[in-house]
Amino acid sequence: MADGHTLVAVGEDYPELRESVRKICAGYPGSYWQQLEDDTAYPTAFVEELTKAGFLASLIPEEYGGSGLPLRAAAVILEEINASGCNASQGHAQMYIMGTLLRHGSEEQKRKYLPEIASGRLRLQAFGVTEPTTGSDTTQLKTRAVRDGDHYVVNGQKVWTSRAEHSDLMLLLARTTPTDQVKRRTEGLSVFLVDLRAARGHGVEIRPIKAMINHNTTEVFFDNLRIPADSLIGEEGRGFRYILDGMNAERILVASEGIGDGRFFVRRATEYANNRVVFGRPIGQNQAVQFPIARAWAELEAADMICRRAAALFDDGKECGADANIAKLLASEAAWKAAEAAMQTHGGFSYAREYDIERKWREVRLLQIAPISTNLVLAYVGQHVLGMPRSY
Ligand SMILES: Cc1cc2nc3c(=O)[nH]c(=O)nc-3n(C[C@H](O)[C@H](O)[C@H](O)COP(=O)(O)OP(=O)(O)OC[C@H]3O[C@@H](n4cnc5c(N)ncnc54)[C@H](O)[C@@H]3O)c2cc1C
Repeated sequence: MADGHTLVAVGEDYPELRESVRKICAGYPGSYWQQLEDDTAYPTAFVEELTKAGFLASLIPEEYGGSGLPLRAAAVILEEINASGCNASQGHAQMYIMGTLLRHGSEEQKRKYLPEIASGRLRLQAFGVTEPTTGSDTTQLKTRAVRDGDHYVVNGQKVWTSRAEHSDLMLLLARTTPTDQVKRRTEGLSVFLVDLRAARGHGVEIRPIKAMINHNTTEVFFDNLRIPADSLIGEEGRGFRYILDGMNAERILVASEGIGDGRFFVRRATEYANNRVVFGRPIGQNQAVQFPIARAWAELEAADMICRRAAALFDDGKECGADANIAKLLASEAAWKAAEAAMQTHGGFSYAREYDIERKWREVRLLQIAPISTNLVLAYVGQHVLGMPRSY
């Protein structure tokens, strides 16, 4: 237990990959992330180094310049980043967004974009789904894309579009057929790959949101943005289905980040509990300090197992919706318990920024809200796994 990176009970798969990620992360200590928060800045150097090492292109097939690894390998990369105290969310979107392009894009689109994304010449880090007035009710989103000759004209607004200011491309979900003209509300939505470099100042305005964590998240306004018709991915009107395909990957990857966060907290809490002496003995000798850390570890181990199962099903091309959702739910909660245990164990020092506990504690709370909130996962399980009535 002395070295947190040996805190593994179910076996470290991809040991060499983990080691390489840890080596990179060692160059980006807490002080780097603290400074970024002070400056509200994007971790450009960190993301560039991960890109150069090929990690962010791990899911892009070799023929398009990536390394064509399974989803589990990507999950391991993100887990290790967060276990090291770094923040994977600043670069993770590329991994799962490009899946929509890969699975549903034309060969021409794939040849045009994927090698550029793999090399890091183009960043695809922005995913425009959430809107201010419709939230979790995605199919009711109001942003419209209307065909006009060989263009689409986009009007509307997105919110919480993370990294938009630091991304060259955005995957955008917009309605192409009004809801009163479709049989099901899941129909009539389409996915576009928007070139933000051309769009900014010509129909797209990006405004940063001041947030609890340094997530570089924004509001994006579309005002008669004209995008070429070939920005459409796949068939018009089938975008919701395409996005759903990518969401299982997203949930599994985000769950793995939670596992990494949890390991960070348990490692730090354990070290502190062993070293901090009060009343003449290490605080970790008190069961009231020790047990919450031990419980958090046990729950992380359980969540890790389901993350692995979800990834295995995904990599086998099998149905994994239930496991991906449950993995996200359990990992986000186990990570939060670990965060709480670490906060309490550090006492007043948890508030000292140099310990990174408060930063990671703020960061990990997000996993219970985004990319999907706990209630919506439970609604999925209630309806799709247990067969109870749809509750929303
Ligand atoms: C830092 C950050 C980064 C983000 N990055 C992105 C991004 O890059 N791209 C993007 O598209 N989105 C992003 N999001 C948005 C995120 O996915 C949403 O915030 C999340 O899906 C919840 O939607 P909402 O905030 O509109 O909450 P709402 O849908 O308004 O829900 C509010 C609360 O009510 C509950 N609730 C709502 N309906 C029901 C119901 N029927 N039954 C039970 N409970 C219900 C929810 O569970 C939630 O707890 C980000 C959010 C944050 C905070």
